[in-house]
Amino acid sequence: MEVASLGFPRIGRQRELKFAQERYWRGESTQAELIEVAKELRSTHWKWQAEAGVNLLPVGDFAYYDQVLTLSATLNCIPERHRDERETLSGTIGLDTLFRVARGRAPTGKDSSAAEMTKYFNTNYHYIVPELTENQEFNIAYEQIFNEVSEAQTLGYQAKPVLLGPVTYLYLAKGVGSDFNKLSLLPQLLIAYKQILQRFSDQGVEWVQLDEPVLALELDSEWQEAISFSYKALQTVEVKVLLASYYGTIAHHQSLVSALPVAGIHLDLVTAPEQLPLFAANLKADQILSLGLINGRNVWAADIDLIGERIAATVNDLRGRIWLAPSCSLLHTPVDLDVETKLAPDLKQQLAFAKQKLTELAQLQTLLSSPNDIKSEVIVANCIARRSTRDAATDQQVVGRVAALTHHDYARETDFVNRQQIQQAKYQLPLLPITTIGSFPQTPAIRGLRNRWRKNEITEDFYNEQLQQVTKDTIERQLKLGIDVLVHGEAERNDMVEYFGEQLQGFGFTEFGWVQSYGSRCVKPPLIYGDVSRPNGMTLDWATFAQGLTDKPVKGMLTGPVTILHWSFAREDISREQIATQIGLAIRDEVVDLQNAGIGIIQIDEPAFREGLPLKKSDWAEYLNWAVDAFKLSAAGVENETQIHTHMCYSEFNETIAAIAAMDADVITIETSRSRMELLTAFEDFEYPNEIGPGVYDIHTPNTPTVDEMVVLVEKAARKIPVRQLWVNPDCGLKTRTWDEVEPALKNLVQAAKVLRRRLG
Ligand code: GLN
Ligand code: ZN
Repeated sequence: MEVASLGFPRIGRQRELKFAQERYWRGESTQAELIEVAKELRSTHWKWQAEAGVNLLPVGDFAYYDQVLTLSATLNCIPERHRDERETLSGTIGLDTLFRVARGRAPTGKDSSAAEMTKYFNTNYHYIVPELTENQEFNIAYEQIFNEVSEAQTLGYQAKPVLLGPVTYLYLAKGVGSDFNKLSLLPQLLIAYKQILQRFSDQGVEWVQLDEPVLALELDSEWQEAISFSYKALQTVEVKVLLASYYGTIAHHQSLVSALPVAGIHLDLVTAPEQLPLFAANLKADQILSLGLINGRNVWAADIDLIGERIAATVNDLRGRIWLAPSCSLLHTPVDLDVETKLAPDLKQQLAFAKQKLTELAQLQTLLSSPNDIKSEVIVANCIARRSTRDAATDQQVVGRVAALTHHDYARETDFVNRQQIQQAKYQLPLLPITTIGSFPQTPAIRGLRNRWRKNEITEDFYNEQLQQVTKDTIERQLKLGIDVLVHGEAERNDMVEYFGEQLQGFGFTEFGWVQSYGSRCVKPPLIYGDVSRPNGMTLDWATFAQGLTDKPVKGMLTGPVTILHWSFAREDISREQIATQIGLAIRDEVVDLQNAGIGIIQIDEPAFREGLPLKKSDWAEYLNWAVDAFKLSAAGVENETQIHTHMCYSEFNETIAAIAAMDADVITIETSRSRMELLTAFEDFEYPNEIGPGVYDIHTPNTPTVDEMVVLVEKAARKIPVRQLWVNPDCGLKTRTWDEVEPALKNLVQAAKVLRRRLG
């Protein structure tokens, strides 16, 4: 029985990598200095893993930007537009090229758009999408991973290179240039993989880990065959392959996987513990089974005593052929709990970050190998104590409220058609009402102010007075522009989830709990550790202040329960559905208070709604059910005349449109400008009944959209959706833009609406 690691976070416990990357990009340090920081980080991370008892140290989990991009470079799959001439001639690739691919820089300064970036499976990590052409050739062109293998070996470690497997690599790539089946490239790709594995073998590597998370998806037969074909081909190299899957069960591919000629199989037993007996029973005599037992995607200490009990029999049967591992790479967890000094002891006791998770595995090993040892008794006692602290913190009032909910609590008083009439009579908005999504520019002055306030350099009163000035200015600008439904601008918010988390009961915040989102970008999600409730109003002061400045309606602005849940590290002792319900109730309290304070239009943002969709389509309905319910719970406590908006800034509504309609928001604003209204087809085909604001101003670029462009977009929308149902608005919030960009754009947007009112009215 061994302790194994599938990969460790690369950013460093104080985000050293981020700062080194950004210094280098700004030209403030040399490449050698960046490489030195990276080397230091790898060495520290290997040391920590070795100290926890890991013998095979993962290599290749480090990346200067993204591990999928590193692999693309290794395979020589770099878009031509990012290469410099010397590289084209020599057939090798340098680190700067990787940065150009990721950050959209051209070697000669000519235009060279960044490669696309997208979410890695159902995580919040973003990878750089490989671009493959129909005649793509693969050969080793970048040496980083081989150098890192030597580096680990020089430090005296046994290196286990970790690579994305060939099938997942192809699956994640996109074909460019012509229309072709990506799988036609597989035989060529496998030749390159064999060369890579051979290089490892020549370096004295015993084990290689190939990650195939595609196995957690429902693959059609072509892709299933690709798996068999690939691992048969790779078998010819003299190196042991650990086939790693994660993020979900692979039981539906059990016979396929069990038949593969690989030396080991890793299973994610956190998301799918039930698949263990199936794979254990079909393990070949010389194979090892790597058990993913500690959650690689959360921050909570594990119940190792319970895990130990659950797997004891299997461990007994397969003695010597078991590895104890995290469920997946620890990439998705913060690095080290030890550096947190400000956490309440009761909360800190509940936590385990990457470094601590490896210690948990070592403890699990102790527990399984010497259950009667005094050490094991201490481990079990700790687990029991931790659970009882957790259970004692239950908020009976919240639990009682959830239990008392009935279906009435989820539905508005009357149907949309009736509400629409009542609301129209009350607000008398013009045809094609104009609104924005919520935030206005977060200027350096605003951010500076907040920093000084957090550091206690200015008083709370002074901070609030200054923000009132900003809010007043934002309202005046909107009035001057001629916007119909105003917003207060969200100047007081740092982040749309953190702002609410800080005011809700049941949330905690770390100082250094960062996880990589992409490149040098890290996020620090709040922790939902207890039952959620709202002790006091959260947005009432700002909302009523802003509404007091004008007779036009100012929207109340809230983040929805599903988004708050997805963008936090949520507790795991109760279901996600239950947590969403609790947050839904807390937001509902705020919605009702806003209404009673005279705020007649309230927006509940759900930009992360789609993100929560499970990997397997067959699990979607269940998720959509409770997610829609949580939203409805938050929104349905109001009178008919209160208009509820929601906002989702993404495309792809085709498969979820029924759920979106079931949310029954009076108005939904969505992103459409980049797809030139194509995605409205989903709303048209479905005959979406409520009102829609398809975004006509793409706020993700600094460009000013012209009046004509926006007129064309709305006319296109009006051919699909009845004009009485349409609103005119930007794609998303404006916080990342400057006033110099926003003002002319909104001026044109208002102008466009006026032209359209004459034309379509
Ligand atoms: N109301 C938020 C804003 O405007 C919405 C942000 C989002 O959709 N991500 O900033
Ligand atoms: Zn948005």
